[in-house]
Amino acid sequence: MWAAGAVVANKLSECKSVRVLLLEAGGAQNATYNDIPGMMKYIYKDNVNIWKYWNEPHDNYGQGYAGGRVPDHKGKTLGGSTAHNGMYFNRGNARGYDEWVNTYGAVGWSYKDLLPVFKEWENNTDRSVVESNPGYHGTTGPIQVSAPKNPDKIIDVFHNVVNQLGYRDTDVNGPIQTGYQLLQLYINGQGFRSGTGNAFVDPNPHEDNLHIVCKALVSRILFNVSWPNVVLFHSGYNGTVKTSLNLVKIKSRGTIRLQSTNPLVPPLLDPNWLSTPDDNQNIMDATRFSCPVCRYRYLYECTEGLMCYIRYNTLSSYHPVGSCRMDSIDRPDVVVDPQLRVKYAKNLRVCDASIFPVLPNANTGAAAITVGHKCAQFIKDYYDLH
Ligand SMILES: Cc1cc2nc3c(=O)[nH]c(=O)nc-3n(C[C@H](O)[C@H](O)[C@H](O)COP(=O)(O)OP(=O)(O)OC[C@H]3O[C@@H](n4cnc5c(N)ncnc54)[C@H](O)[C@@H]3O)c2cc1C
Repeated sequence: MWAAGAVVANKLSECKSVRVLLLEAGGAQNATYNDIPGMMKYIYKDNVNIWKYWNEPHDNYGQGYAGGRVPDHKGKTLGGSTAHNGMYFNRGNARGYDEWVNTYGAVGWSYKDLLPVFKEWENNTDRSVVESNPGYHGTTGPIQVSAPKNPDKIIDVFHNVVNQLGYRDTDVNGPIQTGYQLLQLYINGQGFRSGTGNAFVDPNPHEDNLHIVCKALVSRILFNVSWPNVVLFHSGYNGTVKTSLNLVKIKSRGTIRLQSTNPLVPPLLDPNWLSTPDDNQNIMDATRFSCPVCRYRYLYECTEGLMCYIRYNTLSSYHPVGSCRMDSIDRPDVVVDPQLRVKYAKNLRVCDASIFPVLPNANTGAAAITVGHKCAQFIKDYYDLH
């Protein structure tokens, strides 16, 4: 059950002619760790509702970590990683999604196609943001977003500095992304996290036809010829300001490989970051740019020193995508078609961030939720469900 899967389960069970079974490997959400914002580091330390993964060591990065292995943990509870993520609400630039269509043939996934879906699940409670860009925000959806209410005063200082550099306060979910903003968060009126778990399936909105089983690890999908007919699962399985840079238009490509047929053995994750000259150049340029106050200091002048700094400090920002890429189905490197149907199989769809052809230039949560909505609609249309 995925962040996107919570949406699918909710939307499909709106149709009373079907029965929906939702399987989640993790336990139920934990009120302290999953509802309270900013608990990520305690979740990792106390090992609550997460899959702990480490990337394979690499010469290009991770030198500052034990064994050179950069952590890349994921959520393991209802709502998946939206139950512990950074909560930044950020859809990205329209051109990122248009590229999915124009370069990769993902028909139906342009920004124009997706904007109504983004708006459908959004409940944006910051009037000034909504009014600044009419037509770009939803105000009645189940996922509440707003800026933090009491940001540290140092944020104002930082914003003043970038303002003096010529940048303007900008709604990054509007038509233009260049600028700065006190980013909006997935947060509800009581100050708790608004993830897909609590927005869509917890509490269960359709107890009559949605059956939710936690601690149910799916270990196999059985096929009858090309039709999947059974999913196997085991039940009961146990005061400063900091800037960070995220490369999103990445040219490096990584791999995820199984080291065992046992689903409990973690896969080998090799993101292969910084393996192209363009990515190296871009991260260096961005690092120089990112610190307007100290960019004239020695480290920032010394390319070798800067590269060394990057190799030591680069970490995952936890947004891997594309291992089951969606595209026009005639391409050899494609797993699902633009309706998320798995190539050569019947009645099997993949519905999560793995289907993105490439990263949008943003955090991936908003697009993942939207994938859930689109997938539910594809299934409803296919079976004529109401
Ligand atoms: C630390 C962190 C910070 C992030 N910060 C942000 C942010 O600030 N803003 C943003 O927009 N995005 C953020 N993201 C990214 C965003 O949360 C993800 O893109 C999104 O959750 C992906 O959704 P998904 O449906 O692909 O998978 P996930 O959310 O990872 O969900 C996968 C689910 O499937 C379950 N599962 C896996 N295997 C099995 C199995 N065999 N059987 C049964 N269940 C299984 C897992 O337990 C989990 O619940 C962050 C992610 C992380 C990890």
